[in-house]
Amino acid sequence: MVSFIEEKQSKMTAQNVVMSDAINMTITVAVSNSSSMFTTTTAAQKPPVPPGTGFVSLSTKNLLKNLEINGGGGARINAWVESMRASSPTHIKSTPLAADYHSSWILNHPSALDMFEQIIEASKGKQIVMFLDYDGTLSPIVDDPDQAFMSNKMRKTVKKLAKCFPTAIVSGRCRDKVYNFVKLAELYYAGSHGMDIKGPETGSNNKKSDQESILCQPASEFLPMIDEVYQKLVEKTKSTPGAKVENNKFCLSVHYRCVDEKKWSEVAQQVRSVMKEYPMLLLTQGRKVLEIRPTIKWDKGKALEFLLESLGFANCTDVFPVYIGDDRTDEDAFKILRDRGQGFGILVSKSPKETNASYSLQEPKEAS
Ligand SMILES: [Mg+2]
Repeated sequence: MVSFIEEKQSKMTAQNVVMSDAINMTITVAVSNSSSMFTTTTAAQKPPVPPGTGFVSLSTKNLLKNLEINGGGGARINAWVESMRASSPTHIKSTPLAADYHSSWILNHPSALDMFEQIIEASKGKQIVMFLDYDGTLSPIVDDPDQAFMSNKMRKTVKKLAKCFPTAIVSGRCRDKVYNFVKLAELYYAGSHGMDIKGPETGSNNKKSDQESILCQPASEFLPMIDEVYQKLVEKTKSTPGAKVENNKFCLSVHYRCVDEKKWSEVAQQVRSVMKEYPMLLLTQGRKVLEIRPTIKWDKGKALEFLLESLGFANCTDVFPVYIGDDRTDEDAFKILRDRGQGFGILVSKSPKETNASYSLQEPKEAS
């Protein structure tokens, strides 16, 4: 174990960190936490200084949190496209200003790997609960969302992680789809941005028990409407090459990662023309994706709280939730952790972003 930690330490640089290192780091935290091996080496460590107290706002000035559907005409579409560009950078500018900015951002959101001894110290004696986003966190972002496979190495690592403590996958995707990617029955799954939560399988082969073990589906009444909007969006966007509508059961995603940037306004107009008939649905955005979901007060942060409560940690002071994610929708969960003053969020991002996460990691390597 010590040699493993030493090996990890020697690899710890702020550059070229891949996600599997991050998950392995977390396992290291857990295993160290459950033994006294690390006591002598961490006794002299200072308690961790909560990072991320100074927020930053570079390149987010054009970002609209919730895209307004009605009013504004052409100007509104332009605002949408600006917002789509701001949330979906196609390249990172390397200017001296950007380098300075990146350094100051790293000071506020240090690499989780650089900080792992402090993290070990902070989590000591507490029950770690792991929350992991899927796309861009466990798997690379690829052109075809149906091909966003996680590596076997990553699967093994997550499996090990789940042996140590409760582990949940929290994704915008349909729960069944994310399960088919991850294929680990021992995990909690929160699909559709947390609107479809299910606990680990109990080992029964009875299909009925699958139904009974569903923990939470707060948006069930929206299912017919979501299906209807899905059909309309598929019809509307089929004239735009590369546009893809994904049915995530309780929410929809319109992916434009394969759409020529000159046609982004076309996608925006198509989506808007459908959405204006559905005031009960909300439009938000992620990385090269427009997300449509019910206007209920439920998000990944609520899913995190629900899962902590279900696990019996609602009012516990000795729980240490760790949430790793890369998207705007993960910010709701980062904020919950910050507000609770428990555990921390880790943002996976190559470039500085406004975030409620405390730590950062580089993106997983793009599949080549
Ligand atoms: Mg993601």
